[in-house]
Amino acid sequence: MAAIIDGKKISAEIRAEIKEETEALKAQGITAGLAVIIVGNDPASEVYVRNKGRACGEVGIYSEIIALPENTSEAELLEKIDALNARREINGILVQLPLPKHINEKAVTARILPEKDVDAFHYENVGRITLGKPRFLPCTPAGVMELLHRSGVEIAGKECVVVGRSNIVGKPMAQLLLGENGTVTICHSKTADVASHTRRSDILVSSVGKAGFITGDMIKKGAVVIDVGINRTPDGKLCGDVDFASVEPLASMITPVPGGVGPMTITMLLKNTLTAAKLQNNTNV
Ligand code: NAP
Repeated sequence: MAAIIDGKKISAEIRAEIKEETEALKAQGITAGLAVIIVGNDPASEVYVRNKGRACGEVGIYSEIIALPENTSEAELLEKIDALNARREINGILVQLPLPKHINEKAVTARILPEKDVDAFHYENVGRITLGKPRFLPCTPAGVMELLHRSGVEIAGKECVVVGRSNIVGKPMAQLLLGENGTVTICHSKTADVASHTRRSDILVSSVGKAGFITGDMIKKGAVVIDVGINRTPDGKLCGDVDFASVEPLASMITPVPGGVGPMTITMLLKNTLTAAKLQNNTNV
């Protein structure tokens, strides 16, 4: 039977640490601040943005939500970003994705000052991660690394398999595992035989977005299994990529969905905002 990696508990521990640090910063007259821009009325995005605002409040980070109508032009959005870039009390800027189709996502991400890019999507921050000199870590993969560290999982020398190669999850996930000396394989939709790779993995991270994709016959006995997927079953229940019933008896540790990686993503955004505030104020308190 696998030990459950409790993302809610670990996330609460990290948020308590962040709160202590934001209070220490406030004692120096510095309040960390995050601006979140949302364009349009996508209901899921609205929930994510509200949750981010609430999480900031709970750890003592100032937050501002800027809700723009669906028909906002790219130029108007870029102007908003320029204004936030110039404001001293805003340390982090995040544009909720996806954006409406008429707006170029890359142009928007590139407009945020790299020092305020708390999602770590800017070219400069992506490059820094590749070079092993990160300023901020992308939130979801960073959350996975925290789960591994705080569960005592050794990464160096281990076979690590990441399924999925998106810019947001799979690629940076692989970089972070490589950065800690894992031997990393990335699988994607063109991989000939995904199971032949996953069966060798000591640490398996699935970020595919398909319910029940990883099954027990794809697992090495004793593997650590991290499920990044967020999917819905036909009856509307939240589930990951991993078929928990067949995988859990073989794994040594496993993350549940919900309650595994999910709670960590916003926590790492809070951590990046705090880091941004410290860097911009030249303080290390
Ligand atoms: P994405 O951009 O759709 O990427 C999915 C990846 O899976 C792609 O690289 C794709 O390969 C690969 N893939 C698809 N079918 C495959 C197959 N049959 N075999 C092997 N690989 C396959 O998704 P994403 O943004 O990375 O997100 C992945 C999942 O994580 C989603 O469920 C998402 O909701 C979830 N997520 C969770 C969090 C969190 O906080 N927990 C955060 C972000 C995302 P190709 O590149 O070849 O197309």
